[in-house]
Amino acid sequence: MKQGFIKKIISNQYTLIDLDTKEEILASARGKLRYLRLDEKSSFNKQETMKTKKDTKIVTLSPKVGDYVGYEADLDIYWISEIKPRKNDLVRPDVANVDQVLLVFSCIRPEFSFHLLDQFLIIMQQENLTPVLVITKIDLIDNHALVELKVALRYYESMGIDVYYVNSKQRIGFDVLTHIFKDKITVLAGQTGVGKSTLLNALMPELNLKTQEISEALGRGKHTTRHTELYGFNEGYIVDTPGFSKIEFRIFFQDDLKQYYPDFQALSNRCKFGSNCLHLSEPGCEVKKQVEEKKILSSRYENYVQFAEEIKAQKAKY
Ligand code: CA
Ligand code: ZN
Repeated sequence: MKQGFIKKIISNQYTLIDLDTKEEILASARGKLRYLRLDEKSSFNKQETMKTKKDTKIVTLSPKVGDYVGYEADLDIYWISEIKPRKNDLVRPDVANVDQVLLVFSCIRPEFSFHLLDQFLIIMQQENLTPVLVITKIDLIDNHALVELKVALRYYESMGIDVYYVNSKQRIGFDVLTHIFKDKITVLAGQTGVGKSTLLNALMPELNLKTQEISEALGRGKHTTRHTELYGFNEGYIVDTPGFSKIEFRIFFQDDLKQYYPDFQALSNRCKFGSNCLHLSEPGCEVKKQVEEKKILSSRYENYVQFAEEIKAQKAKY
């Protein structure tokens, strides 16, 4: 079987890149792919609600952009006959195997939100996604406030998250930013008004035109047509549709929250109750100690406590 990578989907037609020849191939998908038997270990198996368990079940599954697939020729038509396990799987945009998510935040208008950042970072952990922080509109904030923000964000840099500061209009900060796309699939995310489109258009001025041509070719009013595409950029791919328009956790137990905080996890062996510590009201908690010593950003911990309370309140409803 030949191996390919899905670059584009329009309706039921898939554009693959053959992994050996790098040739573009047009392919269709076998119907049996839609009914795949999964076991609990399958990467396609996900816990969607508090009550569903990861279990052996049959699901309908379509190949999506970003998928690595097996394909074969049959009567001059190429057929996708296998989808390789996914390292992650987004719904909006409909892309698999995303390497990094650019979390776009403006430093002002709307004001930078540590609460939203911590929410995003939980989702990044849950979905096996690598976050990269891009701070926009640095020209609109006074220098003192920008320095203050940079100092606070050093905490996240110490967690291994890269932070970039840009002014998209004047392409300030772009010399470094443009190098992070190589060999990666990148999705942009962020709340309305932070400048995702401005950033995307400044990075890829030709993209605007491409997406316009495609929507014209597909015709107006045909909103049901499935179209997702990866656009080549600096030896990598960018997805033109931003993700995470709506933020919601799928965390059902207070106990599970801490595993999405790698910075807290790293300290739990020094908590009196070790891995059982929720870092909430337990005595001898190293996380709380480091918050007091200002080694952990106080907003980071306050947001954690708030999320823990929200999960508890949600659980009480069952
Ligand atoms: Ca995960
Ligand atoms: Zn603790």
